[in-house]
Amino acid sequence: MNRSWTTILIFAALFGLLVALGVLQYRWQTQIAANDGERMHKQTQDEADRFAADFNREIQSAYFNFQMDSGAWENKNFTEFNDRYDYWRGESKYPTLIKDLYYFDAENYASPMRYNKEARTFQAVEWNEELRSVASRFSDPKNLKPVNADIYTLLLPMHAAGQRLEKIILRREPDHGEPTPTIPKVEGYLAVVLDEKTIKQKVLADLAENHFGGSDLKIAITGKDDQQIFATQGGASGQDAKAGLFDVAPGDFVFYANKGVLPRPGSEHSDVLINSRLESRTFSRVRSDDVNKTVQIEVQSTDRPKTAVFTSRGNTDKMPWTLMVQHRDGSIDTYLANTKFRNLTIGFGILFLLGAAVAAIIFSAQRLRMLAQRQIDFVSSVSHEFRTPLAVIYSAGENLADGIAKEDEQVSRYGDLIKGEGRKLSTMVEQILEFAGARSGRRKFNFAVNEVSDIVADAVRECTPLISEKRIEVKTNICDHLPSINADPVALSQAIQNLIVNSIKYGNGESWLQIAAENGGSSVKISVEDRGIGISGNDLRQIFEPFYRAKEVVDAQIHGNGLGLSLVKQIAEAHGGRVTATSEVGKGSRFVIEIPQA
Ligand code: ADP
Repeated sequence: MNRSWTTILIFAALFGLLVALGVLQYRWQTQIAANDGERMHKQTQDEADRFAADFNREIQSAYFNFQMDSGAWENKNFTEFNDRYDYWRGESKYPTLIKDLYYFDAENYASPMRYNKEARTFQAVEWNEELRSVASRFSDPKNLKPVNADIYTLLLPMHAAGQRLEKIILRREPDHGEPTPTIPKVEGYLAVVLDEKTIKQKVLADLAENHFGGSDLKIAITGKDDQQIFATQGGASGQDAKAGLFDVAPGDFVFYANKGVLPRPGSEHSDVLINSRLESRTFSRVRSDDVNKTVQIEVQSTDRPKTAVFTSRGNTDKMPWTLMVQHRDGSIDTYLANTKFRNLTIGFGILFLLGAAVAAIIFSAQRLRMLAQRQIDFVSSVSHEFRTPLAVIYSAGENLADGIAKEDEQVSRYGDLIKGEGRKLSTMVEQILEFAGARSGRRKFNFAVNEVSDIVADAVRECTPLISEKRIEVKTNICDHLPSINADPVALSQAIQNLIVNSIKYGNGESWLQIAAENGGSSVKISVEDRGIGISGNDLRQIFEPFYRAKEVVDAQIHGNGLGLSLVKQIAEAHGGRVTATSEVGKGSRFVIEIPQA
């Protein structure tokens, strides 16, 4: 298997590996995004639920704390109420949450009473707009809503004093055939008026900070009709999570609930047995799979069991307020898509760099190997080049020394022969030294303003012996009024000579050669054209590289060392110009040196 096949195979394997890595990376990223999506959606919903539970607990504390019977107002004995109020103030983180407390008689609307916090008693007050608005909310007792979020008021029905309960059992599934409990008569209503400022600026602000502060999630709380109540970072739609706020559980249950007896929020217990005095501040939010199921509460008094029934809630749409959570990027899905895109871009970028680096290493290794091979070829071709003139010099010298050539004419012929071969050798050595000097940057150019025609004429003159020997017809076409150039005349003439020598060497026996100079705008173009063997496209790309020789010329044993054109290129570039070549195999070649005007 040759080298190029090995290289192709290595490339194919590398490419295949990179594609496989790319595909794996894409799959991983997609999998990671899917897992992250699931986790983030769940975490966000859980956090929203915790936010809602914390808020609702705060409201429920203010609500259930005051569950008592109407006896206090009938007997004007507020000791228990004061106890409960003190208890709430002591327990609550937000003592300013309750702005006012009013008691309305269910039958007689004429006597609303306001709780005087200093005097610790309820006192009759005059009807006003606000109180009338509160009273209108219990005008239809069957549809009493405990929460009236629009007027920040909670309404508790106060029932007639009943039997003291001693045992309460909560069951999730009702026993069929249980009698519906008799609920005592509603004697009045306690209105707990909440402080809007405390809710917005303290309760909601604290909860927003505790649950979503420092995260990429923004929230909004909206009431009915989508009116905005609270928002962080410019508000949010419920794209990523929603939870209901202001959930104070079903009205039926109110009758039996007492402080401290019911399961804490989040508790999984389905049955609770209480033997002590019944007091409850909060009770469990029903689990999501219990939504809209009937939950039975069985209450046992000393005489006979009583049962209360309610249907659990949990449907966000029915809650007065809704907490909406949205990711800052628009949604969690958008954020994950962006992250995935970024990760993939970085991953693919790294893979691409890796591929490019490996390809560059393979290329440069190949190039180094090729250069090494060319140097070996160079050494052998130079030795070969040296051998012929040395053999001629050796045998001419031997003939002279042995006295074989005695005649003057013979001696002078041998002398010419030795001189000619010696010159060839010194030209070759000169060329190699020039190349080495130019490569190492040691070569010094003596730039001066010169006429192109002079330099071309000098080059042609230097090549005259060869031109005459090969009987070449040289056409020189130097345009008039050419601009002067800033050049090292010796070096540039040397470059033109190299082109002329090549045109003759690869002239394929044609005795035609044209040297021209013309104005190329900002530069002067010097061209050398022949009708020789021509150069193939592949060779044309490489002929200016040091030591490069076309396979055809090596096979045809045309002498050379592959340095001539690379020297031409170095000289042209040292002048701020360039050299180009066009050619057609079998038809001829044209080399153009462009040198900027002085
Ligand atoms: P050398 O002539 O010593 O081989 P060069 O660097 O001068 O080295 O040329 C490099 C190669 O370019 C040559 O070996 C030959 O294959 C090709 N070449 C250069 N000039 C010509 C030309 N005028 N016609 C055809 N081929 C050429």
